Formats: sequence, structure tokens, C-alpha cells
Amino acid sequence: MNAAADATTFDAIVIGSGISGGWAAKELCDKGLKTLVLERGRNVTHIKDYPTANLAPWQLPHRGALTRKYREENPVASRIAAEDVVHFFVRDAEHPYVQERPFDWIRGYQVGGKSIMWGRACQRWSRYEFEAPERDGYGIAWPIGYDDVAPWYSHVEKFIGVCGTRDGIESMPDGEFLPPFDFNCVEQHMSDRIRAHYGNRHVVHGRWAHLTRPEPIHLQQGRSRCLARNLCWRGCPFGAYFSSNSSTLPWAEKTGNLTLRPDAVAHSIIYDERTNRATGVRVIDANTHAVSEYRARIVFVNASALNTVLILFNSVSARFPHGLGNDNGLLGKYVAFQNYRASGSGFIDGFDDKYYFGRRPSECILANFRNLGKQEMDFVGGYTTFTGAYRERGAVTAERVGGAYKDAQARPGPWKIYMYLQGETIPKEANHVRLDETQKDEWGMPLLVTSVGYDDNDEKMVRDWRTQATEMLAVAGCRDIETVDNHWSPGRDIHEMGGCRMGRDPETSLLNRWNQLHACPNVFVTDGACMTSTGNQSPSLLYMALTARAVNHAVEELARRNL
Ligand SMILES: Cc1cc2nc3c(=O)[nH]c(=O)nc-3n(C[C@H](O)[C@H](O)[C@H](O)COP(=O)(O)OP(=O)(O)OC[C@H]3O[C@@H](n4cnc5c(N)ncnc54)[C@H](O)[C@@H]3O)c2cc1C
Ligand code: SF4
Repeated sequence: MNAAADATTFDAIVIGSGISGGWAAKELCDKGLKTLVLERGRNVTHIKDYPTANLAPWQLPHRGALTRKYREENPVASRIAAEDVVHFFVRDAEHPYVQERPFDWIRGYQVGGKSIMWGRACQRWSRYEFEAPERDGYGIAWPIGYDDVAPWYSHVEKFIGVCGTRDGIESMPDGEFLPPFDFNCVEQHMSDRIRAHYGNRHVVHGRWAHLTRPEPIHLQQGRSRCLARNLCWRGCPFGAYFSSNSSTLPWAEKTGNLTLRPDAVAHSIIYDERTNRATGVRVIDANTHAVSEYRARIVFVNASALNTVLILFNSVSARFPHGLGNDNGLLGKYVAFQNYRASGSGFIDGFDDKYYFGRRPSECILANFRNLGKQEMDFVGGYTTFTGAYRERGAVTAERVGGAYKDAQARPGPWKIYMYLQGETIPKEANHVRLDETQKDEWGMPLLVTSVGYDDNDEKMVRDWRTQATEMLAVAGCRDIETVDNHWSPGRDIHEMGGCRMGRDPETSLLNRWNQLHACPNVFVTDGACMTSTGNQSPSLLYMALTARAVNHAVEELARRNL
């Protein structure tokens, strides 16, 4: 590597500009720190760089479908992407990795990361999820609990805007909500029937990061009310859902403290043995491959779980020959994900004179009801169920061709209820990522090897969920009920976590309760890599809350001259 010629000094460096990096940037800049954000991908400016945001289906060359060529060239990205958003998904060949076991690593390399394409489901973790791994013996103890994070959840929710209802459910705590989207008539019916039958099973409005009624803080961000178009992942011209691009990054920029550097691949963190501190980040220009170094007093690593682990592995020194902070050899281990393998549906008769208007961009949630407070199943962990009801397009006809069939397509079809699983998985040492010993990418970074798979606990959870979903769909009044095990590979859930977990003990974890590396305290990891367990809630809200909490601590520690 050439010597760095382009050193510049900041108070803080953030690696990655996605959901967690955007939050680190906002909080650091708000607190007056001159902050450099390094982003390996291209710049994506809010609104200007959403090329498909306002296109009608007939304006897309293939009406939204991926071409065969794209599918053949991008088997991994094809599992999630569609024609209207392919420009936001990493193409397989450009960023290879090694799948020792099948793992779909879905990535978005651009300013904003995956915050542009994310699904926006935003539930808080309950105290059960923090406590269960230690209580039920399937993991180490979290060094923090719900009460430590609750104020930071509120802080984040108020800023990003989360809609929902206060439901008083212990396994899915309430937050600071904007008004919810409405249930449709069948969802209301399902919620009523399931609650009446079980007592402790709650189908409620999803908690979604949408501005259903913007508050002044949202208008100050330049965002406005959600129009329920459900074209969100193209990028929203109204800024009506939360993304780094619409919210945290422009906010940080307005402070005058932000320097955003797109096309900057963080290669490694520079470590000074004398002070036992990181001193900066080594960067490769994505286009020219020129190398430079940036200096700062603190470094936040927010490159998304597996890339964060990759960067730490690549940050070797005499003191840390196996990766920064990796004294116990656990870096890259205990990687976990969420179990999305099962789904189900059924038709429901009646409600023929009812319809709904708009395309609501949220779903309903059936909060976890398994292993709450004590383990009672033959598997550990819990599951959330996403659900909803809609009318199929086209009335049912005997023929699948001809005039009668065409006419029927203009009439609403039968109502259908669907459900799908989002289950906790168990972090295990064997589920790991590591660096390939020989292969490197175009920027000289070693390729990541993924070795992650399901286990018997996941199989049992899938079986139980299918039984329960079948029963609950029947309770709701459905007929022709079907459930499937889709056998998706891990990774396709897009909720990969772990590899640099938090914990109380430096022997069994890499990060302390403030997300600092035990062995190098001015390096903070606040993306999914830090997760001690996966819980069953969508995780990104927790990454944001942990990031804001860690920044607050970092700034206090800087003031005390501890960093
Ligand atoms: C289709 C889809 C739906 C989803 N739905 C939900 C949902 O409903 N709820 C939920 O909670 N989560 C959801 N997720 C997951 C969510 O997007 C992630 O949890 C979240 O984006 C993680 O935030 P992050 O900051 O860790 O990573 P990202 O948002 O991925 O950002 C990481 C950034 O780091 C950059 N980077 C990587 N390596 C380097 C490097 N070496 N140098 C510099 N920069 C680097 C990347 O380019 C990227 O911009 C969804 C994801 C997808 C794709
Ligand atoms: S549904 Fe709301 S957030 Fe999504 S694209 Fe439409 S206006 Fe924007």
C-alpha cells in the first residue's frame, strides 16, 4: 500500500452511512463534533437520486420484473430486488464473498445504505428478549436491559416518526407513536377473533417508520406526510418514511459539522499501541484506488454487521494480529439471523361489499406469545408474526382465458389473510464469518467467508409456528388454509447480526455495555454486529437507539478525557 498522502483530522469518524451510521453522524454532529462519514458506495441525494420514485408500472421496461440476465448474473440480489430498485442493491459479481454454507448476503452500498430499501418495521424489544438468553441458557447475558435502552428508543422514535397504537403488550412495548394506519375490515375481524379465542394473542397495527401525521421535528427535517403509495423502497419524494438520506444525514449536514465522503472504502482502523487507542481509518478511494488516512479521537464502525466484522478483522497490528479487539478469538463468531422460513394463508368468506382505499405501506403484527417469562416450549426463543388481509385481484372464474376471465379481472376477488414468521435464532460459535486466506476484492480487501446455518431449534420453531398459524387462521374463520416451509437460506431475512457481541465479560464478548471494544475503548460498534442475541423484533430500531446511547457516552467520556 502507498503511504497516505491525504491525512485530515476530525473529532470523530463514522464508517458507513446506513441506518446506524446515519444516526451516529446526526448525534455526533448535534453534539458539536466535527465528524467524517466514510461511505464505500456512491452518493445518493434525497429525491434527486430516486430515479424510479414516480414511475408508473407501465413506465418500467419489464413492468417491475427482473430480467433473466439479471437473475442469472445476480442469484443473491435477485432474491430480494425488483426492477424498480435494482440500482440500490449490490450486484453479486461486483462484491463477491465465499459461501461455505448457503447464505444470501443482501447489501446496499451507497450513501444511506439499506435505509433506502428497508421495510420500516420498528418494534421495541421487550425485557423478555434481553433476559431470555441467560435465563434459558442459550447465550451469554446482555450487559444492558430494556430500561437502559427505553429512553433512547423514545429519543429515536420521536425523531424518525413511528406510527402505531399503544397496546399495552408486554412482549412488544409501546413507544412514542404517531397515529396508525387503519386496519381493514378483515384485519379488524381477525384481531377480534384471535383475541377473543386466546386472550393473550394480540394482532395490532404494525409499528412502522412513517409520518402519518408529521410533527414539527419532522417538518424541520424537510419531510412531509405519508400518502400511502407503498412505493417506499424506490425512495420517497416526500421523505415520508425514515431513511438516512431523508432524515439523519441532511440534519447532520445542517449543523455544519459533517463531512460526508462517498466512494471511500474503509480498509482498516489504525491503532496506536502506545496509547491503546485507535487513531484513525485507512481508506481506499473506490474509483481510483488511491489510499489515504483520516485521523480522529473516536471511531464508530457502522458498516452493517458482517462488513463491520470484516473491517475489524482487517485491522491488524502487532498488538492485535487477529483483528482489532479480538483478544479472545471470538470476532466473527456467534453470528445469527432471524428465521423467516415459514408463511401461511387462507381465504375468508364474506365481506364482499367491503373494500379499502390506498396502498397502506405497513402490516399488522401478532406479538410474540412463546417462552415469555419462562421456557415452555421444546425450543428456546420467541417469534413475531407479521400478518394482514387483502382482496385478491380478479374474481374467481372457471376459465383462465377469454372475455369472461378478462372481465373478472376488473372486479375484486376473495379476501385472503396471510401470516409469516420472524423468529429468533440462537447465536452459536460455529455460525461464523472469517476472512478468506487468499482471495481479495478489487480494493484489496480479503473476501468474507460466511459459514452460517439453521439448527434443530429453528426446525422446531418452524414446526410450532406452522401449527399455530394454521390454528389461528382457522380461528379467524379462514378456509383452504396452507402453510409452507420455504427453506430459504439464512441471510435472506436481511437481519444478520452478531460477530462482535456485547457482554459483561471480556473473555466471552468483544464490546462492553456502551458498545466500546473492551480492548480499544475509543472504537464503538453499534450496528448489528454488536448483538448478543437476535430477539424476535425487527432489529434496526434497536441499532439506532444503541447508537444514540453510545454517542452520548462517547461524548461524556471525551469530556472526562477518558478517550
Ligand atoms: C428489503 C429490506 C427490508 C428490510 N426491512 C427491515 C424492517 O422492516 N425492519 C428492520 O428493522 N430492518 C429491516 N431491514 C434491515 C435493515 O435494513 C438493516 O438492519 C439496517 O439497514 C442495518 O443498518 P446498518 O447501518 O448496520 O447497515 P446499512 O444500512 O446496510 O449501512 C451500512 C453502510 O456501510 C457501508 N459500508 C460497508 N462497508 C464499508 C466500508 N468498508 N467502508 C465504508 N463504508 C462501508 C455500506 O455501503 C452501507 O452504506 C431490511 C433490509 C432490507 C434490504
Ligand atoms: S407510502 Fe408513504 S413513505 Fe412510502 S413512498 Fe408513499 S408517501 Fe412515501
